[in-house]
Amino acid sequence: MAGEPQDDCLFCKIAEGHIPATIVRETGTTVAFRDINPQAPTHVLVIPKVHYENAAELAAAEPAIAADVLREAKSVAEEDKLESYRIVFNTGSGAGQTVWHAHAHVLGGRGLHWPPG
Ligand code: IMP
Repeated sequence: MAGEPQDDCLFCKIAEGHIPATIVRETGTTVAFRDINPQAPTHVLVIPKVHYENAAELAAAEPAIAADVLREAKSVAEEDKLESYRIVFNTGSGAGQTVWHAHAHVLGGRGLHWPPG
């Protein structure tokens, strides 16, 4: 069923506590943890606890939880005292998505160039 945990999903397992992660924040609907392969001094992933393949599908099905993800991204940036930061939703393999559970990358702590690669 839409939103239900998937047995083969890494981020569902992190959300359920079955795989360890460096969790920095947790709410009733979201978990934020440090990326295992950081691309910036702050590189945190914010995920919804419900399973949707990408951020657009999450927003269509559960707009309040999509807003929670964004709110938590801001809280991560505030906790790490970032003046500037970037929130990225890679969507599709051509854009670099490798984990098929919606997630926001929160990146900061260094200069971030535009356009991204
Ligand atoms: P994507 O490429 O946008 O799908 O982002 C997936 C991210 O998950 C990548 O930045 C990976 O480094 C990160 N990642 C993969 N496995 C783990 C893990 O076990 N813990 C934390 N981050 C992970």
